[in-house]
Amino acid sequence: MKLALNRNLTNGYTSNSQIARILTESWVEENIFCPNCGNPLNNYENNKPVADFYCFVCKEDFELKSKQNAMGKKIVDGAYATMIERLQSNKNPHFFFLNYELKTLQVSNFIIIPKHFFTSEIIEKRKPLSDTAKRAGWIGCNILINNLPSSGKIFYVKNKEVENKDKIFENWAKTLFLKEAKSEQKGWLLDIMLCIEKLNKKNFTRQELLSFIPYLETKYPNNHHIEFKISQQLQVLRDKNFLKFTARGNYELN
Ligand SMILES: [Zn+2]
Repeated sequence: MKLALNRNLTNGYTSNSQIARILTESWVEENIFCPNCGNPLNNYENNKPVADFYCFVCKEDFELKSKQNAMGKKIVDGAYATMIERLQSNKNPHFFFLNYELKTLQVSNFIIIPKHFFTSEIIEKRKPLSDTAKRAGWIGCNILINNLPSSGKIFYVKNKEVENKDKIFENWAKTLFLKEAKSEQKGWLLDIMLCIEKLNKKNFTRQELLSFIPYLETKYPNNHHIEFKISQQLQVLRDKNFLKFTARGNYELN
């Protein structure tokens, strides 16, 4: 995998957004493989509304967004209503995020956010465009990458270091079980995964996890069985091999 974007492809172009699109799309086409099967990806014809790339074998779609310089906490995406509609119909593509250094035209970070990590919680509604804007009243959205558990951000390139290919496949496979989860259960699973992550250790206890009850109570004010919900998610996560039970009330992340 080369980290340099190919500037030669943009000779003759003057629009910055067009240049960025050509540079980033051509890089993905040359360097990125399907995280599920390892095959090269295909580029959709321009302006297909839903996705930019697809895998012939897995029949999966991928959308590419890119950002110059700092990675930031959120990614600017398209129309809010379309995004919510896609989430509800389960038709959203997987999401590629390419972050590059403008000065050197080198890729700094490249991640995939699997579509099963998308819930309305990570979608932020932007303010409608002002009356003087060309598309007055239009409402876009941001993807709040900071609200995702780290298992939902699979790196191909991290701080200019290329990740090992097997590691990428492994990270991808680890959370595929979320694909099958219904949206309410998925919300709980993601919450508990995020709480576990905040503990920041490989081995943890149920007791430590219970310290998040006040936080979860604020989040789910109508649920009076939070402790039961925590136990339930731990069992699912164990059944799906995300973690294991090492002793009564003790867990280890896989
Ligand atoms: Zn594939």
